[in-house]
Amino acid sequence: MPEIIDQLAELTGLRDRDTLDVSLALALRDLLAPELVAVHRVVGEPGDERWQTRARLAPTDVTATADTTYFDNGSLPALAEHAEWQDCLSKHQTLCLAGTPNVTLFPMPAESGTSGVVEVQTAQALSDDFIRLVNGVLRIYRNVHALLDYSERDTLTGLLNRKSFDETFYKMVALGMQAAQQAAAADPDRRALSPVRYWLGVIDIDHFKLVNDTFGHLIGDEVLLLLSRVMRGCFRHSDRLYRFGGEEFVVLLRCPTEKDAMTAMERFRVAVREYKFPQVNHVTISVGFTDLRAGDTPSSAVERADKAVYHAKHHGRDQVCSHSTLVSEGLVAQDNRDSDVEFF
Ligand code: GH3
Ligand code: MG
Ligand code: MG
Repeated sequence: MPEIIDQLAELTGLRDRDTLDVSLALALRDLLAPELVAVHRVVGEPGDERWQTRARLAPTDVTATADTTYFDNGSLPALAEHAEWQDCLSKHQTLCLAGTPNVTLFPMPAESGTSGVVEVQTAQALSDDFIRLVNGVLRIYRNVHALLDYSERDTLTGLLNRKSFDETFYKMVALGMQAAQQAAAADPDRRALSPVRYWLGVIDIDHFKLVNDTFGHLIGDEVLLLLSRVMRGCFRHSDRLYRFGGEEFVVLLRCPTEKDAMTAMERFRVAVREYKFPQVNHVTISVGFTDLRAGDTPSSAVERADKAVYHAKHHGRDQVCSHSTLVSEGLVAQDNRDSDVEFF
């Protein structure tokens, strides 16, 4: 009993979703002493969803984590490759598969972030009491996720709010730096492969004040909500989408080249332009984006993207501008700080 309280205290004290998965696996290992405990989550675009094992612990393992800001979809198993996990999730019930070892699968529904399955392998079949215990721990775990959602998400659109931005931003800057170092150290044949790069885009709705003035604030709010849905449909599951307040949105994405980032932003711009908003009909957006660089802070990167938005606003709106292209074309002055910053 005291162990359970300790584990729950640990679990409910965490604020980082990635750590939560690992911590859940550790808690279940301590409680059940199984041969294996693993947390498998469903990731990827609709229609191409895959299993990602976020934590996997055998009795002697210390811990296990995965890079959760991005995953290489192609290397992960498709849902159908683990039919029994899929079965557990779709039936929404605990499945006990007798064998050597016995496997018990517990569903983790989507309300607690991404959906997934907890797998427990034991020599003896788990007793009903243990099954109840695990399901209880999972309910608490789900509540922690719901509280995190409540504090990290914008209430109108459900996108992430400014609060969780900095942490993810610094994680991405560090991952970009790591990838650049690895690419530099790689053998010459592989050096041509594009290293991982991260990008930040700032999106501002054009003439939004006019929308409010003409149709009222409630319709304005509806535009914000619908635009956030268009946004979710345009970007990848692994991209991070934020509403920074007002009618300003931010996206953090990973892709190899400026051209790829431009394509993603353009896809969103065109999707908004073509969307028919009730009453208001058509709305356009101006977008500015920049790469994340070694030594960047959230404000230095947002400032660069903002300059590109400003340029878009003053050159016809309804367009995407890349900060580095504007600098190289002499259309935006390079910030003094930029020249001190080491590029990835
Ligand atoms: P621009 O094309 O230059 O961006 O013109 P704009 O009218 O969009 O100008 P700006 O971005 O400065 O205006 C922001 C407006 O967005 C002001 C305010 O009326 C509206 N706004 C900000 N937050 C909210 C909100 O939460 N709900 C609604 N309905 N409107 C908001
Ligand atoms: Mg604005
Ligand atoms: Mg605006």
